[in-house]
Amino acid sequence: MATQFEDSYHRKFYYLRLSITDVCNFRCTYCLPDGYKPTHKNSGFLSVDELRRVVSAFAHCGTSKVRITGGEPTLRKDFTDILSMIAEQDGIEKIAMTTNGYRLEKNAQAWRDAGLTNINVSVDSLDPRMFHQITGENKFDLVMRGIDAAFDAGFEQVKVNAVLLKDLNSGELPAFLNWIKDKPIQLRFIELMQTGEMDSLFERHHVSGVSIRNHLIANGWLMKVRGKSDGPAEVFCHPDYKGEIGLIMPYKKDFCDSCNRLRVSALGKLHMCLFGDYGVDLRDLLQDDAQEDALVARIQGQLADKKQSHFLDQGHTGMTPHLASIGG
Ligand code: SAM
Ligand code: SF4
Repeated sequence: MATQFEDSYHRKFYYLRLSITDVCNFRCTYCLPDGYKPTHKNSGFLSVDELRRVVSAFAHCGTSKVRITGGEPTLRKDFTDILSMIAEQDGIEKIAMTTNGYRLEKNAQAWRDAGLTNINVSVDSLDPRMFHQITGENKFDLVMRGIDAAFDAGFEQVKVNAVLLKDLNSGELPAFLNWIKDKPIQLRFIELMQTGEMDSLFERHHVSGVSIRNHLIANGWLMKVRGKSDGPAEVFCHPDYKGEIGLIMPYKKDFCDSCNRLRVSALGKLHMCLFGDYGVDLRDLLQDDAQEDALVARIQGQLADKKQSHFLDQGHTGMTPHLASIGG
């Protein structure tokens, strides 16, 4: 193994978040409220071969988990080929994806067979009308059938992401808890993050996850210990529930201390942080397998500059116009 990716704060990077497209077919109010609009001269998203070289370099430097994201990653026609390719890379133990669930019902089995090990589906509300209002799409039933299909295909647990939105879904905690009572779903509430293109939505709808945390602790939920390639959620379990609750609170002090992930965008830019000020182009080093040493060296060089924390709490959103642009 080449040298493990590590930054100057001794954080080790086991987890690659790989965006494979920034295209999306939903219009989530907090992400792409006006739908997808291409903003770059389309030089094309990374090909399967280019993606393979990214994953191979990361795997050789200690990465054991890859999350495929976007935009909506499953809109890529070669999505299954990408899964198979990642599954062939030595050292990659987990292949996860984050999806809006649009294609899950039809494809859950094929994706599992290709090597997908973990699924996160975004479901912001259990009320179909509220789901429509938040995502811009009347697809609640389709997404729910997708989650059932994932269980039928053999996934033992499905993670569900819900962005916490004051006055929209913030009163749904009882319904969500009831939903996961007998289902092995890890429901993860994500605090709304401010991004560059977001209008007053943040002021109107941001709400802290602390009240949920307090409610859980007061009602017998226990915090679980984090694994080395786990994401940033604080996860709680309860003896009476098959499901679990995760809380992702990026505005919490010390949130970045446990950072274990790096990002590569669909256009081949390395991002040290979701809210960084720049991305570093890797694409010129993704054209030939023989360039791997140079690729690793460029990534190592950037790690020295990784900041200790984002500055979200000071309203600094970096270069990120919305999370679909570099992969949330
Ligand atoms: N399209 C896929 C989906 O929605 O699951 C994957 C990409 S999406 C950018 C990844 C995750 O980021 C989703 O769970 C979404 O709800 C979340 N997200 C997007 N914008 C956000 C924001 N401003 N604050 C918090 N979470 C956000
Ligand atoms: Fe699309 Fe996901 Fe953004 Fe919603 S959160 S608009 S599904 S990329």
